Amino acid sequence: MACATWLHSSPLTHTLLPFFYRRTTIPSSFRRFTSAGRFILTSNRVKHPLMAVQAQARRGFSFKEDEVASSADLYFEAPLKIVEYPDPILRAKNKRIDTFDDNLKKLVNEMFDIMYKTDGIGLSAPQVGINVQLMVFNPAGERGVGEEIVLVNPRVNKYAKKVVLFNEGCLSFPGIYADVESVIVTLQRPESVKIDARDITGARFVVNLSGLPARVFQHEFDHLQGILFFDRMTDEVIDSIRAELQALEKKYEDKTGVPSPESIDTCQRKKVAAGFGKS
Ligand SMILES: [Zn+2]
Repeated sequence: MACATWLHSSPLTHTLLPFFYRRTTIPSSFRRFTSAGRFILTSNRVKHPLMAVQAQARRGFSFKEDEVASSADLYFEAPLKIVEYPDPILRAKNKRIDTFDDNLKKLVNEMFDIMYKTDGIGLSAPQVGINVQLMVFNPAGERGVGEEIVLVNPRVNKYAKKVVLFNEGCLSFPGIYADVESVIVTLQRPESVKIDARDITGARFVVNLSGLPARVFQHEFDHLQGILFFDRMTDEVIDSIRAELQALEKKYEDKTGVPSPESIDTCQRKKVAAGFGKS
């Protein structure tokens, strides 16, 4: 995610930061933030893993069926580069990670590096050409400010019914900063989500995210499903950025010498219907 603007004039916004935990220091017990309740880390461990898996199954996730990433899948060369639309890497299936080694830590560090350098606040692994279920984010968007968040193999257990208004950008769509307010309302982008994931050490945890962290998470989680932010836009919003999307398609064709794998003009984009929790 390139950037985000909180459209609610909420006095609680500042309470969102700092939040979460640093990627090198996972809390061993409950951690709560303020009476505002904007962010609550309920536990760093799933006490009932079976229940969590069952919850995922009810929502349609194929948790056990996801292919596991090999060391070759996790190979990378630094410095990383941002993969831009319409590169098919952004639509490819992302494999589950089950190896939590130094290579993964180095990849995470490199992802934070490129995220900060490109003024991002969130980044998913496919956006740097690695098709695995990994995301990093720091809504403060600045090293040393806020908290750095790493989620491996994240799953959503519950979406809030309440929706919020937001602008979203995406590092894979340079130069496009879309007002997707109407889209969010239409598609009911939830204000909060309950997720479970693994941290950089492989430890499983459950967390409730709300406000800006929830927004960034949902954007990056879409990437892990091969969904791009314009998939959630109405045609009216698409029209407002059509020229920029076409320019990116032409840029890809000029660079690679092959036709763009998808075209906004032929409406071959992967339209996402209202509703969440589907992979
Ligand atoms: Zn993005």
